[in-house]
Amino acid sequence: MRYASHAALMLAAGLSSAGCVRPDPLDTPVPASSSTASPAAMNSLAERYVKLVLAVGRHDANYVDAYYGPAEWKAGTDAGAPLPLDTIRARAQAVLAALAPLRPAASAPEMERLRHRYLEKQLESLVARVEMLQGKRFTFDEESRALYDAQAPVHTEAHFDSILARLDAALPGTGSLQQRYGAFRQRFVVPPERVDAVFSAAIAECRRRTMPHVTLPPDESFRVEYVTDKPWSGYNWYQGGSRSLIQVNTSLPISIDRAVDLACHEGYPGHHVYNALLERALVRERGWQEFSVYPLFSPQSLIAEGTANFGIDMAFPGDERLRFERDVLFPLAGLDPATAAEWARVRELNSGLSYAGNEAARRYLNGEIDAAAAAAWLERYALSTPEAAKQRVRFIDTYRSYVINYNLGQDLVREYVERHGASAEARWRAFVDLLASPRLPSGLK
Ligand SMILES: [Zn+2]
Repeated sequence: MRYASHAALMLAAGLSSAGCVRPDPLDTPVPASSSTASPAAMNSLAERYVKLVLAVGRHDANYVDAYYGPAEWKAGTDAGAPLPLDTIRARAQAVLAALAPLRPAASAPEMERLRHRYLEKQLESLVARVEMLQGKRFTFDEESRALYDAQAPVHTEAHFDSILARLDAALPGTGSLQQRYGAFRQRFVVPPERVDAVFSAAIAECRRRTMPHVTLPPDESFRVEYVTDKPWSGYNWYQGGSRSLIQVNTSLPISIDRAVDLACHEGYPGHHVYNALLERALVRERGWQEFSVYPLFSPQSLIAEGTANFGIDMAFPGDERLRFERDVLFPLAGLDPATAAEWARVRELNSGLSYAGNEAARRYLNGEIDAAAAAAWLERYALSTPEAAKQRVRFIDTYRSYVINYNLGQDLVREYVERHGASAEARWRAFVDLLASPRLPSGLK
């Protein structure tokens, strides 16, 4: 999703292998430990994990972002009353206990070690989420460590003031900085009748720039729908089978930057490519079913949002984004290409304010400030309009420390990719490897 809240649970069933419904292995005893992780033992624990994620989804409609594993697993979870949270937690802890003796040796293939660690972390985050559903309250940083395997840095008012001073200088005129910034953005709104042409061009360009670096199934596809009245600006609903439905919310005016943002973030090389590569490399080729389910409040989201955001830089390094927007998208949108460079400069300055959202969330969720003060903080330090600030506070109420996944995720992915080399080839290799392997946020360092 993009600056978004998940409005509804999406479960894409299907793609299941035919077969009879087996007894629920959640109720079978934990197998005796062995010194090596046999694929069968790991696959059995993975199946129990998938069913636990689906079980949490019956208590928390936002929890399961996508599922394309065996349909009978979902049908089994949906039958009858929801599993009590206490039972889910106990079963998750039993799976964790069964996983411990299966930890691969340091000499084992890296993918096996990554798989084991990933399953452990995802289960630990599931336990934390269940405890939250039972009323437990963490501090902001405790929660982000427990759910996302990461902790966002702290930024002071002075940090944001220095960025605001630069924006102040870049946006001359009368009125407050907030008013001048709002008026500036108005100049870059795409007329509604041109939105589809602009978005289609951006998607085609992001795909063209991504495809030389990844091998996707030939039938991969990406469908765009325009919707209104959603709490998010864009959303990728991964359907399984290398297919995505991308929805674009057109309720609010759409500024020109959203075209490349959305095309890269939701599409290429972002969420669509990420999900398609996980499905092919891990679910289909290796039979690792734990990747057929995506729990939203889990470490996977930091990797998903971080790669989706950094994917913009991958597809458009240096000033290539500016050139594409100026030469292709501005004319398509009926905007003056001569203003594109000014737009890009202000956008770059403004990107430094993204962490102001984390600070508002941290202080608000820690109980240091109330909702009104959090909104006021966002207006002042994130240059949000009053309406957008209120909406972001509502987002924080629902999604809480999820906010770190966008900017901290982007920064961690950037550091990871840049550590693997400066050439475009080395960067893409590292990026695609990250998309197609079970790495954790703490494993990016
Ligand atoms: Zn996203």
